[in-house]
Amino acid sequence: MTGKILLYYKFQPIADPEAVRLWQRDLCEGLGLTGRILISEHGINGTVGGDIRACKTYVKKTKEYFRGIEFKWSDGSAADFPKLSVKVRDEIVAFGAPGELKVDEDGVIGGGTHLTPEQVNELVAENPDVVFFDGRNAREAEIGKFKNAVVPDVETTHDFIRELESGKYDWMKDKPVIAYCTGGIRCEVLTPLMKNRGFEEVYQIDGGIVRYGEKFGNAGLWEGSLYVFDDRMHTEFGAPDDPNYVQLGHCVHCDAPTNQFYNCANEPECRHQYLSCEDCRETNPYCAECAAKAATR
Ligand SMILES: [Zn+2]
Ligand SMILES: [Zn+2]
Repeated sequence: MTGKILLYYKFQPIADPEAVRLWQRDLCEGLGLTGRILISEHGINGTVGGDIRACKTYVKKTKEYFRGIEFKWSDGSAADFPKLSVKVRDEIVAFGAPGELKVDEDGVIGGGTHLTPEQVNELVAENPDVVFFDGRNAREAEIGKFKNAVVPDVETTHDFIRELESGKYDWMKDKPVIAYCTGGIRCEVLTPLMKNRGFEEVYQIDGGIVRYGEKFGNAGLWEGSLYVFDDRMHTEFGAPDDPNYVQLGHCVHCDAPTNQFYNCANEPECRHQYLSCEDCRETNPYCAECAAKAATR
C-alpha cells in the first residue's frame, strides 16, 4: 500500500466548529487516516497520513466544505502519526490573539499582500529598503533565513505580539517588509497583527519558504537550510555540494559549521533542541546548558 501525508490549511469563517470537528473526525476514522487537525471559528489546519486512496477521498470530501483549499502532498503513511487528534481551539495558529483575527470567505482580512517567489525578487531588486522579517521561532532561523533578514527574539508564536509592541522594530514601520515562514500559514496571522501595529507596507510569500525554495533553490535570496518539524529536523533546496549553499549554523560545543539539530539527551527534563556537529554529538550529547551543568557537578 502506498502511503501519503497531506498538509493543508484554510482560513474561512466556520459558524459551528464543533460540528466540523465531528464531521472531520468521522471522515478520518472511516478512511483510516491519522494525524492532527485543528479547527477554530477562523478555519482549519491539518496534517494527516494514510493510504493514497483514502487521502484522495479525504481531499475530495474536505473540498466540498473548504472550497479552494490547497493540499500539499508528501510521501509517508498513517504510521508517521501515532493517532488521530481532531480538536477545536481558539486559534489554528497560536499567536494568543484570537479576537484580533478577522476572516471572510476570501480568507484573512487585512493581511499582508501576497507575493509569488518571482515577485519577491522583483520587489527586492526595485527597492533597496525592503526588509525581510522572519515569522518563525528564532531557533529555526539559526540554520537558514533570507539574506539580511530581521529575526525577532521569539521562542513560540505567542511571543510575537510582545516583540512587535516592544519598539525594537519601529524603524521598519515605514519600509516595505516581507514576512516569511515555512509554508505561509503563520504569516497569514502575523501580517495583520503587524499592520494593526503600524507597519505600513507588509507582504507575505505565497506558499512560504517552501515554495520560494522550490522555485529558486540556493540561487535566490534564501541562505542555508530549512528547519522542518519532523525527524529530519532540516531540509535543503539544492545538492549538498551546491556552491551557492551557505551553512549558517554552528555547533554549540566546538563552533564547527553544522545544520543539524538534536534533542538534548537529558530528556525529558530538558526539552532543548540544539545544534551540534557529529563528533561532539557522540561524545557530548547535551545542549550547552546541560553540558555546563554536568561540568560543574
Ligand atoms: Zn562540535
Ligand atoms: Zn539540555
